[in-house]
Formats: sequence, C-alpha cells, structure tokens
Amino acid sequence: MNLESIIKERFDRSVKDCTNEELYYALLEMTKKMAKGRESSAGKKKLYYISAEFLIGKLLSNNLINLGIYDEVKELLEKNGKSLSEIESVEPEPSLGNGGLGRLAACFLDSIATLGLNGDGIGLNYHYGLFRQVFDNNLQRETPNPWIEKESWLEKTDKSYQIPFGGFTLNSRMYDIDVTGYDNRTTKLHLFDVETVDESIVNGDGIHFDKEDIAKNLTLFLYPDDSDEQGRLLRIYQQYFMVSSGARLILEEAEERGCNLHDLADYAVIQINDTHPTMVIPELIRLLLERGILMDEAIEIVSRTCAYTNHTILAEALEKWPVRYLEKVVPQLMPIIYELNNRVRKKYEDESVAIVDSEKRVHMAHIDIHYGYSVNGVAYLHTEILKNSELNNFYRIYPEKFNNKTNGITFRRWLLHCNRELSALLEELIGEGFKKDAMELEKLSAFAEDEAVLARLTEVKRKSKSELKDYLKKTQGIELNENSIYDIQIKRLHEYKRQQMNALYVIHKYFEIKDGKKPTTPITVIFGAKAAPAYIIAKDIIHLILCLQQLIDSDPEVSPYLKVVMVENYNVTLAEKLIPAADIHEQISLASKEASGTSNMKFMLNGAVALGTMDGANVEIAELVGDDNIFIFGESSDTVIEHYEKADYVSKDYYEADADIKRAVDFIVSDEMLEIGQEENLKRLYNELLNKDWFMTLLDFQSYVKEKERALKAYEDRSAWARKMLVNISKAGFFSSDRTIAQYNNEVWKL
Ligand SMILES: *Cc1c(COP(=O)(O)O)cnc(C)c1O
Repeated sequence: MNLESIIKERFDRSVKDCTNEELYYALLEMTKKMAKGRESSAGKKKLYYISAEFLIGKLLSNNLINLGIYDEVKELLEKNGKSLSEIESVEPEPSLGNGGLGRLAACFLDSIATLGLNGDGIGLNYHYGLFRQVFDNNLQRETPNPWIEKESWLEKTDKSYQIPFGGFTLNSRMYDIDVTGYDNRTTKLHLFDVETVDESIVNGDGIHFDKEDIAKNLTLFLYPDDSDEQGRLLRIYQQYFMVSSGARLILEEAEERGCNLHDLADYAVIQINDTHPTMVIPELIRLLLERGILMDEAIEIVSRTCAYTNHTILAEALEKWPVRYLEKVVPQLMPIIYELNNRVRKKYEDESVAIVDSEKRVHMAHIDIHYGYSVNGVAYLHTEILKNSELNNFYRIYPEKFNNKTNGITFRRWLLHCNRELSALLEELIGEGFKKDAMELEKLSAFAEDEAVLARLTEVKRKSKSELKDYLKKTQGIELNENSIYDIQIKRLHEYKRQQMNALYVIHKYFEIKDGKKPTTPITVIFGAKAAPAYIIAKDIIHLILCLQQLIDSDPEVSPYLKVVMVENYNVTLAEKLIPAADIHEQISLASKEASGTSNMKFMLNGAVALGTMDGANVEIAELVGDDNIFIFGESSDTVIEHYEKADYVSKDYYEADADIKRAVDFIVSDEMLEIGQEENLKRLYNELLNKDWFMTLLDFQSYVKEKERALKAYEDRSAWARKMLVNISKAGFFSSDRTIAQYNNEVWKL
C-alpha cells in the first residue's frame, strides 16, 4: 500500500492535511492500481454476463475489503484524524439498475472474480443512471443522478465499434470498471457508451430530453420513460447498441484466444440476464453470416453459446416488440428473426411458442428459449411455476433446458462491509472461515442456547439501530426512536410487492392506538422505494405513505407509539445502512409474483426476521430456518394462480365483509388525509384498491395483520428473539452468490 506516496505526489501534503475529497481520489487511484496487478484471464472458455443493469453501488470500501487492505487503510486514516466512512460519502453512487435484477448482476460479478472464474460483465454506461428521487409536497419527483466525474472507477479503453442502425451508424466506445474478487483475481465490467452523447440536452432539473436525438441521448438514462412510442424505440436502440458492441467484443476476444468461430461455444458462453439483451442472439448469427458461416451452422453455434435467465412471470414485463419498431431501428436483424420464427413454426404448430405472433409482435423470451441451451428461474418456486404454468408449453418441448439457480448475494458487501460489528462477533465465535465458505455460518447454531452470545447479538443490533438513527438524522433530517421496533420494507415500488398492504396496516394500527390499544414497544415502519416515473399508481402509493408519515408525526396521541418513515432516494448505500438495523423485514408480495427477492437474503444474513408470504426465495428461507424463526401468512401461490385462472377475486367483497378493512381503505380519502394530500392521487388509489386490486391486497390483509401482531408479540421476549436472529444468520450461507455462481458454472457455463 502506498497511499502516502500517492498523496505526496498528487497534493504534496501529508494525510492529515488533506480534505476528504483529496483522500477519496488518492484512494481511488491506489485501489485501481492494485486491482490492475491482479488481472488475469486464464482459460480457454470465457463467460460474458450481459445485462442492461449493474447496480454496483459505491466501490471504494468493497474494493479495499476485497484487496485485503481495509483495516490497514482505516487505521492509517484514523491515526491522521480522518474517517473512512466520511471519505466514502464523497463517492457518488451510480444508479445503473432498477432493483433486484441489477443488484444481482453486481453480486454475480463479485462472486465470479472471487471464485477466480474467467468471466466479464457487459452493459451500458448510463450517464444519469435511473434517476434520483426527490420528495416534493409528499410526491415523488425525478432528477438526474450524475456519477461520472473527471476521475472515477471508469477507464476509457481503445476498443471502439461502428454500430449500424436503420439509416445511420453510431460509434461505440468501451469503458471498463475493475471488479476485484475477495482475495482473488480482478475481472472487468465493460460498459459501452456512445461517443456523441450530450448531457446538455436534458432540460431543467427533471429527466426530460429529446427522445429522437439518438446520437445524443442513447446512454443518458437507464430505461427512459417507455410510456410513449419514442421511449420504447429508444429502449430498442439502447438494447441493440449494447448487444452489437458486446457481440463484436466476444467474437474478437474468442479469435484472439485461437477460436475459428465454428467452435465458438468452446470459447464463449453468454448469460443473458432477462430479455433485455435478447437481440444478442440474432446479432451474433448475423455477424457469423457476415464472416462466411452458413445459416444452419450459425444458428447452431449461437444456440450452443447462449443461456437465458428468466426473472419474472409478470406478463407485462415480458418484452414483446412490434415488428414495425424493430424494422425501423434494426432492419438488418429482421431477416434473421423471420428465419428463426419460420423454423419454429415449421416444427411446432402451437401458436403460443411462436416468435412473431399474429399481431406482428416479436416475443423476445421465445427467441431466448428456442435458441439458447439453458433456461433458468431464480428460486425454486419460480422455476416450478415457469415449468408448470407460465412456460409450460416450452417446458414440454425442451424439458432438458430448464433449471433452477436460486439467487444469492455477495457476503463481502452485505455482511463484511455493511455490518462490521456483526462480522467481528461472528469471527470471534466461529473463526473467519465463513468469509470464504459461507456455509460455515452453520457453526453459529452451537450458540443457540448461549444467553451471553444472544445478549451480544442483541447489542450488535442495538448499535446498528442507533447508527441508522444518526445517519438518517444527519442525511435526511429524520428522527427515529432507537428503542422502537424497526420494521423495514425496502424494494422497488410495485403493486405486486404490496407496499399498499403495509400502509393499510399502518392505518389499522393508527386506529387501534386512537382506541387506546397501545403497542408494548413503539413501532417504526420504514419504507424505501423508487417508483417508475410513468407508473401512476405506484406514485400514488408513495404519496399515501408520505401523507401518513406527516399525519402521524403531527398527532401527539399516536406518534409516541407509531412512526412511519419513507427514506428518500432508496439505493445501495441506504440499503447498507438500513439492513443491519432491521428487526423485522417485510417480504409480502402476492404469492407467485416475486421471482426470488434478494433483500430477504440480505436481511436474514444481518439477523432480521422475515414477515412474509410463501413467495420467491422466502419459501427456501422458511424451509431452512423452520417455522419458529419466520412469520408466514397469506394464500399460497397455487390458490393465487387459481384465482387468476378463474378471475374470481373481487376486492369489494373483502372490503364490504370486513369492518377493519373498510375502515382502513376509507381512511385513504378521509378528511384528515385530504387535508394533507392531493385529492386526485388519493382518490385514484382508493378506487384502484376498491374496484381492481389486481395484486389482491385485501385477500391477504386479515392474515397479514394477525401474523404481524404475532411477530410484534414475539419481539417482547428479547432472548427468544435473539435466538431467531441467530438461527437466521446461521442458515444464511446457502444464499451466498458464491454458491449460486458455482452452480451456474458447474451446470451451465462449464468454464
Ligand atoms: C437488494 C436490493 C434490491 C432488491 O430488493 P428486493 O426486496 O429483493 O426486491 C433493490 N434495490 C437495492 C438498492 C438493493 O440493494
């Protein structure tokens, strides 16, 4: 480590005389140099993880941990009166992802590097990321989230490609971010950018810009508003730009390693993260044809190279692009897509497996399934639903392609970095083996009856809660009661995730307290969520929560016992502060709708107890920890799927049959609420819940309230609660992304 000499050279000063900013840039430089020293790409076959999103979070601390110099750096800084966590606050967080899917890709890169696998990520270099969320008048407003500074983790490379679109071409440039593995090699995240991008076309402080000026706008934002045709076309421009650049890089690198392209599948495997990169399949075929390979063989080569991960069964999230869009943006791909469709139609009469449907829409997932060699779901239940209902018609054709890879998280970020107190305690109790072999956390179960250990766990949690209180006070002006129960729901705002059900619970509790039924321990319900800019109802739910926050805060009868908080701009940095501090975490999606979830795993690892439905990876968590250590409620996925098939769920019936439900729902449009909030938003949400409620909030409300009360009561026995924490931590090893990645490698990639 040569931090002092870097500082001397850069600023001609000593550590103690530097600003936090100067120290950050010096650390950035040092870390980048050290990462370089560990580069290698040994091995004939290479993995390319291609994804429209990589929600990487801040990188400094994680890189210091993975390079093994965190403690050393921290000590040196402290000796000079500096704080690493303050220096870290200088680092901007890139928002190159929406939520779980993008965060998964980031965890996977960490594990690929840590396991020493030959694999890189491929994505896009969005200058303003998703957006920064601001609350104004209890409503969400979006502003750009710039993160690229003169010096950053990005490094410009000399790789550049000409990408053809209908009517024009654009120059793509590759930028790299080093991904350090824990005590292992460094791999790369390749982010492609368009050289002509122009940040100045974004108007005012919002996220509006000329959507037709592709040369200037292509990499400004992740998934710009797709509520209009221009937005949807821009998405296709982005997707093709990413996959065409990636495909060229992949072929170039394979040839450098001695591949003759006929045996591409021995040199490269491409993991397609959801359908956004699907066009890599026809694009690779096209590039192989250009290089003289015939159609039959080109299709066969690409089919042996590509594997697809499905992330959702929500029909509206499965991309179907109108032929007319693709004809405009990428006319060169259409002959290939038609050829792929003809081959499918010749072989299978079943209209539901066609690539181009009768309404002239191209089903992207269908390309992946027919012309990839592996299709995986991301949790046991999700894969079963894919096989047995959602993709059953495909499963019957290709049973051998379907497999499950239950998601995971990197323990470096989600334990070692975000909860140093807990990892120190674990290390003291069970040694440091768990840092490399997560299953060693099981050793903790030996202490399940050890009251002294349970008390120390509780003390670690108390400290984290107090740190969160300080952090939110300092950064957002929020006052928490650190002696309350922290009940946390943080995830994208979506009706299927049912933040609205949690909000209805808050209203229910509010009435109970007004009626004199005060909770033994005060409750703090914490939300964090961004809503897609064009998702009206999601934004209405945010409005409801913010209005409740204001209402309860200003009610002295209720506020000592109940607090609602919605943190602004939920992102990875906030997740790292919130998760260690949670007592209860809410995983309350409508059963069958959450493919896996990964925040559930992060919370479990940090000793929080889940209140959840039997959905996604909750099913596997419940199986591992047992009934005593999780709070499960709600209808099963089978029942829910049946309700959809029969179309027999009527929310109004539940509203009318249950006085508690009626009281809570009616409160949304009560005089008290209308005085604080916007009538338009609150009424729209009220009507939605009453007349539609597509994700069946009211169906599960009663059992939700009951189970939550049971969890709150269980919390009163602190030693028994600490035992639940301990069991959750001890069983979390299975959810290490190292395990997930090892499975992908053994069963799909075979590097
Ligand atoms: C882990 C994570 C998610 C995913 O959360 P889910 O509750 O699994 O949907 C989303 N956003 C951020 C910032 C995360 O760290």
